[in-house]
This record gives sequence, C-alpha cells and structure tokens, in this order.
Amino acid sequence: MAILYRNDLLAPYLALPQGEKVQAEYVWIDGDNGLRSKTTTVKQKVTDIGQLRIWDFDGSSTNQAPGNDSDVIPSAGGDNIIVLCETYNNDGTPNKTNFRHHAAKIMAQAKDEEPWFGLEQEYTLFDVDGNPFGWPKGGFPGPQGPYYCGAGTSKVFARDLIEAHYRACLYAGINISGINAEVMPSQWEFQVGPCEGISMGDHLWMARYLLVRIAEQWGVKVSFHPKPLAGDWNGAGCHSNFSTKAMREPGGIKVIESAIEKLALRHNEHIAVYGEDNDMRLTGRHETGHIGEFSSGVANRGASIRIPRHVAAQGYGYLEDRRPASNIDPYRVTSIIVETTCLTTEN
Ligand code: ADP
Ligand code: MN
Ligand code: MN
Ligand code: MN
Ligand code: MN
Repeated sequence: MAILYRNDLLAPYLALPQGEKVQAEYVWIDGDNGLRSKTTTVKQKVTDIGQLRIWDFDGSSTNQAPGNDSDVIPSAGGDNIIVLCETYNNDGTPNKTNFRHHAAKIMAQAKDEEPWFGLEQEYTLFDVDGNPFGWPKGGFPGPQGPYYCGAGTSKVFARDLIEAHYRACLYAGINISGINAEVMPSQWEFQVGPCEGISMGDHLWMARYLLVRIAEQWGVKVSFHPKPLAGDWNGAGCHSNFSTKAMREPGGIKVIESAIEKLALRHNEHIAVYGEDNDMRLTGRHETGHIGEFSSGVANRGASIRIPRHVAAQGYGYLEDRRPASNIDPYRVTSIIVETTCLTTEN
C-alpha cells in the first residue's frame, strides 16, 4: 500500500551538524496551480531577504517560463529556511500564474482599510492507489454524519498527519488558526488567519506546501479538487472570511451589508476566479449556494455570502464568502474581494 515510512532512517542525518551552512528551500507556484521546490545551500544564516539570490528554474518542466523572486521565509528547522518565491519571465514581466504581483498592488491601494482575511482550506486525502485514505477496500464507509469534527476509529482518518502539519505550521510561523475533520470521511480543513492584505496568500500557500510535503512521509496524496468524489459526498471549499477596519468597529454591519451589495453586482467576475470545476461543487446542495445565483443571509450555510450569527448579533465583525473552491489561488480571491468592496465606486 503506502510508501514505507522511513523517518527512522532519516533521523540520524537530520541530527548531523551542518556548520555555518544552511539550506534554503525555494518554493513556487507552477503553471498549473501546483507547488514546486528546490533547495540551495547558503553560506550562513539568513537574516535578511536581500541575502538570498534570485534563482532560475527550468520553466519548460513546470508549464511556465523561468525566473523568480523571493518573499517570506518560514523556518525549516534550525537555521534552515523555506522561501516563498514569485515567478517572473525573462523579460521581467510576471509569469502567467504569478497572481501575487497584481494582488500586492491592490492590497497597497487598499492599505488604509486594513483588509483582513481568514481562509478555511478544505482538502481530501487519498492513498497512493488513488482511493480515499482509510476507506474500506473496494467499498464505501457509511453515509456522512459521524465524521465532521469526529473522534474515534472509523470516524477520523490520518489524524497523526494532520497533527504533524498543524505543529509544523506553528513552528514555521504560519498564522494557522485551527483544524477540523470535515463532513466527508478523510476530508479535513485548516484555517489560516486573520491575515492582513497580501500576507493571506503567502501564509496559505506555505501552509499548503507544508501539507503536501509532510504527507509524502505518510504516503498520502492531498487533493484540493472541489468535488473529489461524485455522489452524496461533500465537496471541498475555501470559505473566505473578510473584514475591513470599518466592518470591525461598532456599527460595522452597515459596511458589511453595503459590501454584500457590491459583491452581488459582480457575482460572475468572482466566480471566474473562484476555482476550476467549482460548478461541480456549487450545486445548491451540500451546504453551498448555487453557482448561477448570488444569495446572502445571516447564519445561512446555503448562501453565497453568510453573515455569521454572532456578527449579526453584535452589529459588527466580518462576512464569509462561501463560494471559493478548495483549489483557488488565494491571491486572486483576496484581491478581487478587495477590488470589489474597497476600490469600486458606485455609479
Ligand atoms: P466556520 O464556522 O465557517 O467553519 P471557521 O472557524 O472555520 O468558521 O473559520 C473562521 C475564520 O474566520 C477563521 O479563519 C478566522 O481567522 C476568520 N476570522 C475571524 N475574524 C475575522 C475578521 N474580523 N476578518 C476576517 N476573518 C476573520
Ligand atoms: Mn539542472
Ligand atoms: Mn470552518
Ligand atoms: Mn469546512
Ligand atoms: Mn466556513
């Protein structure tokens, strides 16, 4: 079944002294919304991003042209680091999947509004043979019901992997705010946030990277597909919680309502960047609103936008955009939300 778990073999090597030298693991988003990485040795501990070089890669192997530029640096153990990179073409223009470049400009324009996000990343685990992880061979587990936030054998799967990822995120300085088992067995969620502006995309991409990287050790495949299994199984989303400074202050509910009016006017533009195959998920069933129709409501999990009950009760807080799929690029989603609600002036 799964690849042998070889941590016992690796541990002594990880414990070897490495002198002054550190590893810098460069991570970037490839041409198909996947993650790639390669590692370089740096002569000494890195204390400033300027000490890192811009590094080329073979773009023909990653469905994109080469060139990159470094950004945030979580720790990878000791002085070793992981470096999140932006990708640029040889002529200096942003690569086709470098959505961070545009998003950073939008976030700079809306800086005074202090946009905060909290993303709920859902994902599904599969074994190396492509079966949902832990499901009975050639069969199905019982219907949905006991799995969401479940506890106990046959209700939750791969909790050790989830725990390892959670701790690794905390160690690396990712603003992870929680985890829970999801409605479909072997589907999980982690939340990252609140994060301000461009940092939301940075933290979410790094959390995803750590997840797929750690899952290698379990021989587990991570799927970010919005409807990984047809039938009466929940899809996977990336609910996007959002607020501005004005929304977070007493009376902010008025600002939230006016933002929802603006979001309603641009439903189709948002859906266009809310993930591939999202039509398979946004059916109006399984706690979703229908893809073809904008809706909103307090405590309504079948709506496009939900105002959490406690937010309506206290009169300020944030809104939840439930439309984004699990496979979104968070830079695209956070930037269009800010463009629509903060930078669009009504005619
Ligand atoms: P749900 O009830 O939809 O499952 P979760 O608890 O999974 O909600 O996620 C809620 C998210 O909302 C968290 O990631 C949290 O960081 C985020 N959040 C909380 N307050 C704010 C805020 N003021 N602005 C933006 N996001 C927020
Ligand atoms: Mn080479
Ligand atoms: Mn959640
Ligand atoms: Mn969820
Ligand atoms: Mn949610």
